[in-house]
Amino acid sequence: MKNLSLYFSAALLAICFIFSGCQNSQTPQSVEQNGEQQELNLEDTKMIKQLFDEALTSRETYSLLDHLCNNIGHRLSGSAGAAKAVEWTEQVMNEYGFDKVYKQDVMVPNWKRGEKEVARIVGSSSGELTVLALGMSVATPAEGLTAEVVEVQSLEDVESLGEENIKGKIVFYNRATDQRHIRTGAAYGGAVDQRSAGPSTAAKYGAVGVVIRSVGTAFDDVPHTGVTSYQDSIPKIPAAALGYQSADRLTEALKQNPNTRLFLKMTCQTLEDAPSHNVIGELTGSEFPDEIITIGGHLDSWDVGHGAHDDGAGCMQSIQVLRLFKKLDIKPKRTIRAVMFMNEENGTRGGLKYAELAEKNNENHLIALESDAGAFSPRGFGVTAEDATIEKFRSWLPHFDRNTITFIKKGGGGVDINPLRNTLGTPTIGFNPDSQRMFDLHHSPNDVFSTVHPREIELGTASIAGLIYMIDKYGL
Ligand SMILES: [Zn+2]
Repeated sequence: MKNLSLYFSAALLAICFIFSGCQNSQTPQSVEQNGEQQELNLEDTKMIKQLFDEALTSRETYSLLDHLCNNIGHRLSGSAGAAKAVEWTEQVMNEYGFDKVYKQDVMVPNWKRGEKEVARIVGSSSGELTVLALGMSVATPAEGLTAEVVEVQSLEDVESLGEENIKGKIVFYNRATDQRHIRTGAAYGGAVDQRSAGPSTAAKYGAVGVVIRSVGTAFDDVPHTGVTSYQDSIPKIPAAALGYQSADRLTEALKQNPNTRLFLKMTCQTLEDAPSHNVIGELTGSEFPDEIITIGGHLDSWDVGHGAHDDGAGCMQSIQVLRLFKKLDIKPKRTIRAVMFMNEENGTRGGLKYAELAEKNNENHLIALESDAGAFSPRGFGVTAEDATIEKFRSWLPHFDRNTITFIKKGGGGVDINPLRNTLGTPTIGFNPDSQRMFDLHHSPNDVFSTVHPREIELGTASIAGLIYMIDKYGL
């Protein structure tokens, strides 16, 4: 009910603007939030509305993402696509006339998928399974690998089965994402240990390979890749993800015949680390140029699909926040950076380098925001900061239309900006769009431009711009 009255007050404010200019826009307006009266500066509501208007009518986030996806394509670290994306985003930010545009050198892992992978249930006419090698996986022997399969639901299952049941076999991690989570990030988080730690856990007991049920939320047969982390002290075994329906077929085959064997062939390779870059555009602060606000996404993606939601969208939104400020002649008090981080997917080298240089150069980072949850309709922000800061941000909610930003929750950041928090103690913000479709597409060949809705991505851009506008103006 409190929320209702809050929205009602905000709606009244908006009506005021539209119909009469009945308030002098400089006059603070009092609204009720959490049972307390809060003063809202109508000038801010008006500016945030203008940010939305400009984003929705220009559609420039969407146009940039179109180019990134359809002219450059996917961008795995060390690939030609990643190098082109670095060059192009630098050019775009220069053309927009940002105050500074530059790159940071960073060496990145250089993993190549190789030929199309094969996974087949041996001796079954319908045994061909859809499959993608996990990122950083080693190859199978050149002729492929055939072994019996042992199906498990968890890392703990492998520990309790032990060497006598695991040795010489392919371990099949089959725990699906839990559909009961409303925010699908939690469903993903609850299943992803099979992908990240599954291969080394199985190898510890002598497994020769690993397949997992893709960590996704769609019930289709499109496999989802993603990084796996080998432990150095344990032999590295080939690891791959099966499409959801393929995982069902393998389970069925094992029910019919517990001695079912799987053929797996993958030709992946990890080459020497390759040179790459973070790309940075800046608007220099007019009053506190040494106080930095970072807005970022990651420019690298997996090597399937376009990396449209993950995370072309976040990069294009970061660039557009700066463009919106310029277009509306907002002169930020503090320095605002759009950062295209490199190598979030399989190493976080860009995020680590950014934090390392921030520390080395004695930079003063006020706060950092990352958009890496897709180009979907905005819902809210997660914030890791002092409670008073979170409360302050909450007091700004009435500036936003109720169909955009509805919450500021405690706890949030991003893989690329968390190193800044760990190194300098910088507060962090994660942008939280609607999550229902993200893990249907994430890390899969379906993460393509055609799945992005132009209004949804622009609403996200404007929401981020609105919050950054307020932070720049009022501080934490
Ligand atoms: Zn991402």
